[in-house]
Amino acid sequence: MFKLRQVAKQFGDGTKALEGINAEIAPGSFVALLGPSGCGKSTLLRLLAGLEAPTSGEISWGHAGKPAPGEIGYVFQDPTLLPWATAAENAYLPLRLRGVKRTAAIPKVMAALAQVGLEEFAHAKPKALSGGMRMRVSIARALVSEPALLLMDEPFAALDEFTRHKLQDDLLGLWRQTGKTVVFVTHSIYEAAYLANQIMIMTPRPGRIAAILTPELAQGPRRRESAEYHRLVEEITGSLQRVMPT
Ligand code: ADP
Repeated sequence: MFKLRQVAKQFGDGTKALEGINAEIAPGSFVALLGPSGCGKSTLLRLLAGLEAPTSGEISWGHAGKPAPGEIGYVFQDPTLLPWATAAENAYLPLRLRGVKRTAAIPKVMAALAQVGLEEFAHAKPKALSGGMRMRVSIARALVSEPALLLMDEPFAALDEFTRHKLQDDLLGLWRQTGKTVVFVTHSIYEAAYLANQIMIMTPRPGRIAAILTPELAQGPRRRESAEYHRLVEEITGSLQRVMPT
């Protein structure tokens, strides 16, 4: 269980990014952090990753201290792949940096590429891959250490809608299969409604959690055309309207 208690973050230049964040994330949840641009979503994700410390308040990861490298997988909006390296070499990188030998890493790298449907493309370089496939490599790189927690910062925002829908469905499949905890930053109401079983709606800066929705529909397979999905979109829209300045 991850717990945040009265977490606040103020940057050196005085910018208050987050204030009074209280939240609990149960293992195996799919959490969407939803809010307008600049409300502190990425900052909250970096705090959860242990990459930055809160100015005040506490974060606990369910064990002593900050997470170790490899305990958390991080996926950014930009896949940030090494252009000269193959998909397999890119996915191997976090293990290489931790000193894992190539021969020991190969099964893990191939398993991570298989999890994102790219085993056929292990030897392809980023230039030969589509935007969606490059994002899949980036996800494989986050999965290669077999982290229990996957943090994703608007990973599909730059993709076309067809590719985005496919990656959303594949990510849900991966989540159901592996039971990982996912925290997914998005400013898309539709994406949050489609993916998450816990939606944290944030206020404009300084970011606070205005509401937490735990939709029922998240338990079964999602359908974009279902009435319950559209009701959820409406509910989220209403919650966001209440926190946005008029
Ligand atoms: P979001 O992900 O919701 O778009 P961010 O977490 O990136 O928001 O940023 C929240 C606020 O904090 C923004 O106003 C941003 O400009 C500011 N901010 C982010 N990082 C820094 C930093 N290192 N120094 C100063 N201000 C920052």
